Amino acid sequence: AKSEGKGRYVLFDQEMYEQTLRLTQLESELRHALEHQEFELYYQPIVLLENYQLSGFEALIRWKNPKRGFISPIEFIPLAEDTGLIVAIGDWVLKEACQQLKSWQNQFGEATNLKMSINLSSHQIQKADLIDKLDLVLAETGVNGNAIRLEITESTLMDQGELTIAKLSQLRARNIQLSIDDFGQGYSSLSYLHRFPINILKIDRAFVEQMTEGNEHIEIVRTITMLAHTLNMSVVAEGVETQHQVDILKSLGCEFGQGYLFSHPLSAIAAEQTIAASLLP
Ligand code: C2E
Ligand code: CA
Ligand code: CA
Ligand code: CA
Repeated sequence: AKSEGKGRYVLFDQEMYEQTLRLTQLESELRHALEHQEFELYYQPIVLLENYQLSGFEALIRWKNPKRGFISPIEFIPLAEDTGLIVAIGDWVLKEACQQLKSWQNQFGEATNLKMSINLSSHQIQKADLIDKLDLVLAETGVNGNAIRLEITESTLMDQGELTIAKLSQLRARNIQLSIDDFGQGYSSLSYLHRFPINILKIDRAFVEQMTEGNEHIEIVRTITMLAHTLNMSVVAEGVETQHQVDILKSLGCEFGQGYLFSHPLSAIAAEQTIAASLLP
């Protein structure tokens, strides 16, 4: 029994070792990816539920690694956050998404009023130069603040406190819109929510998914939607996959939807075709 126990430890160490090795390799590959333009942005449509009109896109990062193939952001974003690389990656995302938006504005006219939603990690918010960087990107790309929406997760908001409120106010002063992302996943103190200058609340996919399981789940989404409206926020439902979900969400007064029912995240070229199609009479 003793040697068996020992053997298990050896095995465990081996696993730990391999895990660490994989992470270290992934980290250096992540640095390499940034320098060699292996990242690409995909764009997922966000639609007005009332008439399915295209209102904008959420920019979602993709990593195509020559050796490993496609790697999901669910796998590499946490690592990028642990290593601090997320700041450089986030800078790239911000610039790329704004450049893309500007090129669509030039092509289709600013009157299309497309909004570009961009995910911001907590590390980016903590950096002292976030506002300077944003000003620079807006100036360089010629995008107006009111065309971009920064998505900040509920847990990031709740972690940071006063400093974040001050930063968010500076962003709002540039007319940048702010979304609270993955709402319902974290541990919001609801009484605290009104202190943040947020424009949009994104209901986490898990709640949208559960709505068909029973009335109490619908009531939760109704309550979140009412709370948001009370605080002058619009509501985006994430992960909408069925018409039934749309029907319920509309009846609850939820304004916007995002999910596979409307569209998967699209390459820039495919997103461009979607914009063109949305402008047809
Ligand atoms: P998120 O911000 O909550 O993004 C929404 C995720 O849900 C995306 O996954 C999207 O593809 C997926 N999704 C959209 N509609 C549906 C649906 O109907 N059903 C299901 N099952 N899933 C749907 P993705 O692209 O894999 O991104 C995962 C997460 O990675 C994002 O979650 C976000 O937290 C992070 N991420 C992605 N791009 C960036 C980025 O540029 N910066 C940062 N900081 N994080 C990013
Ligand atoms: Ca998001
Ligand atoms: Ca989300
Ligand atoms: Ca999410």
